[in-house]
Amino acid sequence: MEWGIISKENFVGKTSYDVPIKRWDPLSTVTIRTEDFGLRKERIKFYGHYAYISPIRGKRPKGFTSIEEKKQFYDCSKKISLQHKDVFTAITEGKPIYDDRGKQLGDGFTMIIAEDEKRKDNPFLEIPHRNQRISEDCKALTLINRYPSMARIVDPDIEKLITDKLPLHIKLSRGINLVTISRNFYPSLCFNLIPEDILASIFLSMKAAILYCIEEAIERDFYDIPISPFFNIGLKVGGSQPRIHSQVYIDLNMDGHGSRLEGHLEAFKEMGDNCHLCQTSHGDSDRIIIKTKFWTFFTTGSPVRNYHIRFHPNEHLRRFSQLKVNQINDLAKILKVILQGMDDISIDKNRNILFNCCPYHYDANFHLFGDIIPHEIIGGAEMVDDMRVARKLPHIAASEIRNSIEKYVNEIEW
Ligand SMILES: [Zn+2]
Repeated sequence: MEWGIISKENFVGKTSYDVPIKRWDPLSTVTIRTEDFGLRKERIKFYGHYAYISPIRGKRPKGFTSIEEKKQFYDCSKKISLQHKDVFTAITEGKPIYDDRGKQLGDGFTMIIAEDEKRKDNPFLEIPHRNQRISEDCKALTLINRYPSMARIVDPDIEKLITDKLPLHIKLSRGINLVTISRNFYPSLCFNLIPEDILASIFLSMKAAILYCIEEAIERDFYDIPISPFFNIGLKVGGSQPRIHSQVYIDLNMDGHGSRLEGHLEAFKEMGDNCHLCQTSHGDSDRIIIKTKFWTFFTTGSPVRNYHIRFHPNEHLRRFSQLKVNQINDLAKILKVILQGMDDISIDKNRNILFNCCPYHYDANFHLFGDIIPHEIIGGAEMVDDMRVARKLPHIAASEIRNSIEKYVNEIEW
């Protein structure tokens, strides 16, 4: 059931629990009451805690084959070969790729949604194919995730069979999972080695692919679609492949959103025309790390981890896909500087970069914002509620990062 395809052929010998499922926790799930957030008469929607459970996720190939290789990607002072072979090389070369010992790393089968910004395969394509070698002029590719947590294509007869067998509170999980990679190999743990234009191209390809997926989804009568673009950098935060890559989760279940997003939606609703991100000085400026023409980066006053950074476009945009080229180029430039600055003061290199967006079709007020969250071990009390314990004062964290990036900022023409 790779690429989120459930067909008569691959369902043979499987049960209703061998497919990606979505389960709402009955102890934290209630129905949506606000019309702005997707309340519609024809369909009951929820917010609360839910889990995607997908057996295929466990089949993902291991990107780091040995401890030596793992170490190699942590050391960003060394020059790393752009020709380094990984599972994605088979896709960019359009043929099976083997490591030095003759073990196959990848078979080259794929579905490419966007080559840079150019639309390629339809997001609902049913058969993967081996591609032609991707031109060296291409900078980034957006693919259908081969090991998704949601089903993208489901044979109608099989869907009925599965749905009839599953209890009411468990459903077959529908959606599209995208992966965006750089055309040539750049290690994700070394942001300093990734050229700025490559990083910007990754964002542009993500944006083009999201818009293509949404258009095609609407065409198929999907609506009220939550979207989560994110980067997992490093094994400890879910980044199983060494090459720089981002992901996008597009949930097509049309059954609501999680409690965190509900909190953001309600907060922005309450703010009304007085958007906090448009008006605040982030603690009288002492938590601001950098503010450019297009973006503001600051340490949040209520961190989820030590050195938790938040950033937002200065323009009041609701979605990642509304970002314009100059905003994206500037974002790539600043992210490189910030991540290098974090490396320099030895903040854990395993980090998540997350984008919080307004779901498609929600008529909600929202200001797009991102989080950079370095990895840390999480405690028990923190699992009980939407709460975290941090030790680093946010304004001190901001000044440490500000000092650390100073030399890079001065070198750049903004
Ligand atoms: Zn705003």
